[in-house]
Amino acid sequence: MPISSIRPLGKTETTAATLTASLSRILPFSCVDGPGSRMVLFFQGCNMNCGSCHNPQTIGLCNHCGDCVSHCQHGALSLIRGVGQRKRLECDASLCQSCDACIEHCSRSGNPSAKRLRVDEVVDKVRDNAPLLDGITFSGGEASLQRRFIVALCRKLKQDPECQHLGRLLDSNGLLAVQHWPELMSHCDGVMLDIKAIDDSLHRTLTGRSNHQVLASARWLADNNKLTELRWLVIEGVNDSQAELDGIIALYEKLSARMEATLPLRLNAFRHHGVRTEFAATYRATSDERMAQITAKLAEAGVYCYSTTD
Ligand code: SF4
Ligand code: SF4
Ligand code: SF4
Repeated sequence: MPISSIRPLGKTETTAATLTASLSRILPFSCVDGPGSRMVLFFQGCNMNCGSCHNPQTIGLCNHCGDCVSHCQHGALSLIRGVGQRKRLECDASLCQSCDACIEHCSRSGNPSAKRLRVDEVVDKVRDNAPLLDGITFSGGEASLQRRFIVALCRKLKQDPECQHLGRLLDSNGLLAVQHWPELMSHCDGVMLDIKAIDDSLHRTLTGRSNHQVLASARWLADNNKLTELRWLVIEGVNDSQAELDGIIALYEKLSARMEATLPLRLNAFRHHGVRTEFAATYRATSDERMAQITAKLAEAGVYCYSTTD
């Protein structure tokens, strides 16, 4: 799907009570999406289109074409009457088995079983698990596209006696314009920021977008001590050249110099799990040996880094 075909988000209601967001999935517990035990909200819709994306079904927004409806064996999907004569896709949560069988039938990289939820509905889900959680992570897709919803949600969580202890972190590709970070970060502890590539031409090839805004976001977050972690998905033979490695080290040094806390760099090894077939055929999985080499070079350069291979 070309990046140009990703539509802007639909009309958003303006009051917190009626504000809604499309959520691809809610993971009740995770220990890999920030410190401690966390609930993860995967927002639907992304403004990049990375070939290496492990959750490509979170990229697109539904245009209610109905192509997926007949592919749900559980009768959870239907086209119902929307505004005026327009039909819209509805997923009945009581019937959906979360089997993901419908996903491959959406040509827009959408998720037919994504649910549109109000702020109070999400608060209820968080509250159910709150005693066992350390925090909540806003992920996606690109969570910052739904920043108004996140701000409203954070306000409610902070007011709720059972939820106010929860930390709040954002996973982001960094494309949010700098002027929008202050309000969003006044409600969040920080951002785990993806760096896809240092060379802008390579970044455009990998994601469909320039990295200029990403780097501007990184600087703002570092200056304001909201850069919790940098993340680099290493794709062997694609974005792991010596020039890219040198660029990552230089960026890390510049950002670290602006921060009070130590900046961790998390390395993720590219794997084929979940990746669209055409890209899985293009990129090879990154070997453990290559990850070890890169980790050693970064450590030698004074970068505080750790790696994950799964
Ligand atoms: S994930 Fe839900 S909507 Fe999709 S096929 Fe499975 S049961 Fe049907
Ligand atoms: S999820 Fe995809 S296939 Fe299903 S109605 Fe929406 S755009 Fe069409
Ligand atoms: S920014 Fe993240 S969610 Fe968006 S396409 Fe890239 S990998 Fe997927």
